[in-house]
Amino acid sequence: MATAHILGFPRIGADRELKKALEAYWQGKLGPADLEGVGRDLRRRHWELQRAAGLDLVAAGDFSFYDHVLDTSFMLGAIPQRFGRADGRPDLATYFAMARGSSESPALEMTKWFDTNYHYIVPELEPGMRFALSSMRLLDETCEALAAGYAPKPVLVGPLTFLALSKERQTDGQPGSRLAYLERILPVYVEVLERLRDMGVRWVQCDEPVLATDLAPEWLTAYRTCYEALAAPGMSLLVATYFGSVADRAELLASLPVAGVHLDLVRAPEQLPAFLDVWPRERVLSLGVVDGRNVWRTDLGRRLDVLETAARRHPQLWVAPSCSLLHCPVDLARETNLDPEIRTWLAFSVQKLDEVVSLARGVVHGRAAVAASLAASDAACDTRRRSQRVHTPRVAQRLADVREADVRRSSPFAQRRPRQRERVPLPLFPTTTIGSFPQTPAIREARAAFRRGKIDAAAYERAMRAEIEHAVREQERLELDVLVHGEAERNDMVEYFGEQLSGFALTNHGWVQSYGSRCVKPPIIYGDVERPHPMTVGWITYAQSLTDRPLKGMLTGPVTILQWSFVRDDQPRAETAMQIALAIRDEVADLERAGIRIIQIDEPAFREGLPLRRSAWPAYIDWATRAFRLASSVVQDATQIHTHMCYAEFNDIFDVLALLDADVMTIESSRSGMELLQAFARHGYPNDIGPGVYDIHSPRIPTSDEMYELLRKAASFLRPDQLWVNPDCGLKTRRWEEVIPALRNMVDAARRMRDAVAAAAPR
Ligand code: GLN
Ligand code: ZN
Repeated sequence: MATAHILGFPRIGADRELKKALEAYWQGKLGPADLEGVGRDLRRRHWELQRAAGLDLVAAGDFSFYDHVLDTSFMLGAIPQRFGRADGRPDLATYFAMARGSSESPALEMTKWFDTNYHYIVPELEPGMRFALSSMRLLDETCEALAAGYAPKPVLVGPLTFLALSKERQTDGQPGSRLAYLERILPVYVEVLERLRDMGVRWVQCDEPVLATDLAPEWLTAYRTCYEALAAPGMSLLVATYFGSVADRAELLASLPVAGVHLDLVRAPEQLPAFLDVWPRERVLSLGVVDGRNVWRTDLGRRLDVLETAARRHPQLWVAPSCSLLHCPVDLARETNLDPEIRTWLAFSVQKLDEVVSLARGVVHGRAAVAASLAASDAACDTRRRSQRVHTPRVAQRLADVREADVRRSSPFAQRRPRQRERVPLPLFPTTTIGSFPQTPAIREARAAFRRGKIDAAAYERAMRAEIEHAVREQERLELDVLVHGEAERNDMVEYFGEQLSGFALTNHGWVQSYGSRCVKPPIIYGDVERPHPMTVGWITYAQSLTDRPLKGMLTGPVTILQWSFVRDDQPRAETAMQIALAIRDEVADLERAGIRIIQIDEPAFREGLPLRRSAWPAYIDWATRAFRLASSVVQDATQIHTHMCYAEFNDIFDVLALLDADVMTIESSRSGMELLQAFARHGYPNDIGPGVYDIHSPRIPTSDEMYELLRKAASFLRPDQLWVNPDCGLKTRRWEEVIPALRNMVDAARRMRDAVAAAAPR
């Protein structure tokens, strides 16, 4: 036997039903019972897909109304006091308050799930918390599956992964250890397992992806305690690891009283031999051989090679995708507009179910039993390998011709800076914004009308030019120093470029959950990347033609385009990044040639690209910084390069930021109160910095006083002549009514800083 299973299915629905229902519910247009009904329908549909495909088990508990880590907090009763309810069980309102905040309490933090673009809600632990089974959702959904005749395998976030992802809020200011909570949450896990056992469930999946990261020894030791406790109810536990190798933990895992382990053989095929050596024969070895994070059709023949080798040494194999399919779009069948050849190369979640089943059948009954699937897979993989759409020899040649000088500016920053200031004179504390201005309903409607053919290209262009002119005039009125065109014409900072670069395909329904109801539609990079024509030059030069003030051209950087796309799996990520970098480089050169004196290359995804294990960091940092420099270094000394990163956690990567050698780097920092600049100062960050002084994530309009205070603090850490004044990030999610007064206050704060510096200067 080889059990075919999945670690989880996307929950949003092929039509983003969950998104629509959630948003209607939040607006008060849908009642709680109807919302629950939508959830039930989705679960039912997804289980039916799994059964129809021939999976032996269906995943239960992978559904969530917001996030599965939040569900776990909720189940364990890890509900911070500020959300506490005097009257019994926490309800849906409490749940969404934790996710999104309420008028009384700020939301829990949200951060990226390992190295994916999915965000989870960070559990908050408080010393006084009383952990107890507080939500029956997992149990109810398992019952639901059983009642409907499915064989459910409930999925839990494992206790140690849960703790590792959480943060502790100390009331007494003492540093505490999250591990100390283990013995307090374990009884709840045990109770859940007992109840599942009593329902007749046999297998439970405990997700422990944190095992694929660097862990301190005490965490590894805790695995023993933890899983010994979880063994008591007598359930068969499948410890699921993914996103990296756990080869160095094979012995540890084998020593735990668990019935199975799942390995991600897509990310880390090299870990299989270690497990074939130590994994006990009577225990299940679940092999993740179908990519759960990408959209490519599986090369079934090659995967069968792996499975057959494993099967010769291990009798208890299961077959699965590498990780939950949460990170994959739902159904390829809906992509009727995709190029037909490219379409044959792809598999979304629904298609991956069939692949898993074919592989499981193939390894048990032999290749002849799945001959048709194998032949189709072979044919598709073969055309993909040889297709001229994929391979453009001139791109490879261009990359091979890249010289060291191409990835370095001609002069060091100290020499570039005076040339830039001569070309674009600026006051001390120059003011600017991060790029986008409000994406108003009018803009979205114009774009939708253009898409649907209701207005023609000329009318769309007129509408966007009017928006650009509006943004420029407003910025002039505000007397900002460096203007932007406002990005009205961009639906999304990656998709916009994906639509214009060759080697990219766009889907109509390829949505993936990013957080809560928010979904993204990543482009698919299938081939060598080139820029057939300028992508932004027309809009930017139009904007510059409207004003005498300097206008900053706005581009998305190669690492971010790579990170936020589905990428090729037939060449290293580094190579794709360098190809994108060359395309962006062409755009940078054209912008400079068109007279644009300041160019910003956004890299908000730079940090999230860091590998899970530190040992892999240097290689990533090397190619990622090279890609950025390849894109940016084409310009003359006098052209100023900006970059932007929107997060405040730089602790690990200060040295890397200097390697990018951008003339100006704008960052998020308003919420952290500038503390992080101290570290910039300590590391001697040499170039200019624009620490965000305006928190754009909130509709609140910051006062001139508070931004002035932030600037004063910034100036106490860094040289005044190093500082720029700007918001934390782009303004596209805000309304003009908020943006105008906030920027007016920001410009005022910058003026006050200039006055203060002038007053303090010796005469
Ligand atoms: N230039 C982009 C904007 O302003 C940057 C967005 C981002 O950093 N995520 O919208
Ligand atoms: Zn940003």
